Amino acid sequence: MRSFTVDAIVLRRRPLGEADRILTLFSRERGKSSAVAKGARKTQSKFGARLDLFSRARITLHPGRSLDVITSAASVGGGWERLVDPDVFAFASYLAESIDSLCEPGLAVPELFDVVAEARDALAAGIRPGAIAAAVDLRMLAVLGVAIELDACARCGQALGRRPLSGGLATLSPAAGGLVCRRCLQAAVQEHDRADESNVRVSASELAALRAIGTIPFKDLADHEALEPLARATHAFVQFHAGKRSRSLLAATARK
Ligand SMILES: [Zn+2]
Repeated sequence: MRSFTVDAIVLRRRPLGEADRILTLFSRERGKSSAVAKGARKTQSKFGARLDLFSRARITLHPGRSLDVITSAASVGGGWERLVDPDVFAFASYLAESIDSLCEPGLAVPELFDVVAEARDALAAGIRPGAIAAAVDLRMLAVLGVAIELDACARCGQALGRRPLSGGLATLSPAAGGLVCRRCLQAAVQEHDRADESNVRVSASELAALRAIGTIPFKDLADHEALEPLARATHAFVQFHAGKRSRSLLAATARK
């Protein structure tokens, strides 16, 4: 079998035997996959820091019996020093976990690779994870075909504008797929005899911000401290889809 080369980001690493590592890679060409980096835990590893967590590299692999074996790696986009920052490390881990639970192995999702690479570049440029967390979630869900509906009621389809606000707050329902109008919200409460605990309520300004940031490059979100609380809402949707691993989600990614 022939070797092949992919543009990949290292999502996860775990030790194997005395000196090796198993890496979870997310590549533009092959999506999520596992590979062995032999000797990667030796001080004198030929890979150096190129296969550190959240590194991006051109990686050449040789198909093995059970797992592909990494034969070479060349850094893309320079080194990666900010992982010593606990916030950046936590965010990289969050991204890795989300992709791990949202994506099928071996299924390429180039648009999602671009989102992760752009997030990585923004963090490397010094932007705080909190400033981009919500925007990354929005874009990640959009490219997977489960964008959060923020303009109309996700249940009845009624266009909402500023009307979803009740007592100054709008309700976002991960189960419904986005904003829910007052009438649908009341109907759901009556039907289930209680409010859906996974619902998230956001203020008018938070809703406006969520509507605005979905298309802004991550690097341009740097100075918006007000964006940090938005991740509370977007994380709820990521968690919902990660937990559900919905058929529709898989179908959406398979169509691409
Ligand atoms: Zn409705």
